[in-house]
Amino acid sequence: MVKNTYTQIKEIKEYAICNKIPIMQDAGIDFLTTFIIKHQIKNVLEVGTAIGYSAIMMSLCSPNLKVTTIERDEHRYMEALKNIKKMNLEDRITPIFNDALNVKLDDKYDLIFIDAAKAQNIKFFELFERNLNPEGYIITDNMYFHGLVKKNEKEIVSRNLRGIVRKIKDYITFLKNNDRYNTTIYDVGDGIAVSEKKTK
Ligand code: SAH
Ligand code: MG
Repeated sequence: MVKNTYTQIKEIKEYAICNKIPIMQDAGIDFLTTFIIKHQIKNVLEVGTAIGYSAIMMSLCSPNLKVTTIERDEHRYMEALKNIKKMNLEDRITPIFNDALNVKLDDKYDLIFIDAAKAQNIKFFELFERNLNPEGYIITDNMYFHGLVKKNEKEIVSRNLRGIVRKIKDYITFLKNNDRYNTTIYDVGDGIAVSEKKTK
């Protein structure tokens, strides 16, 4: 039986839920794909592939879009390869198996999508902004971190989670103080930051 795209996407989402893989929420995917279409994005660099779900959804929204995506977890990377193949998107999605902090790329991208280790957002931003086209955008997911960023810190019991929340707050400060970009945080999904390069 030839499965249709909808069924395949549903299976990828179900796999993510069963295996507790934090893929982007539907509202976030809608936002991202609408953004890609509206701004005529041609190529994307994604930090944090997981099992390829968001890379696949981005590719499906725009027929010529190319996505390069980085994942450091081997098991997830292998699953992403399988999913990309299953969706026949091997010619448009280039997965890289490595820690993003060790990846040096020469290409330029219209959009850099950061969705990996939340405590390292500043590092990812600083490392990859050199790969951004002059009119490009950097989008970062999980600015609310499952709602925890809006909570009073005292209510967050886990020390580890408190640490991540603090790092996200530091990242928000970093974005606000960054005079090369204008950043807006959208109240969509788990909070999405869009940083636009200022043109002189
Ligand atoms: N964008 C995906 C979800 C990514 S989940 C989607 O919406 O479908 C975040 C992923 O980032 C995890 O799989 C994790 O292994 C990966 N990750 C975290 N830190 C990383 C790093 N430094 N380099 C590469 N991948 C990283
Ligand atoms: Mg995310």
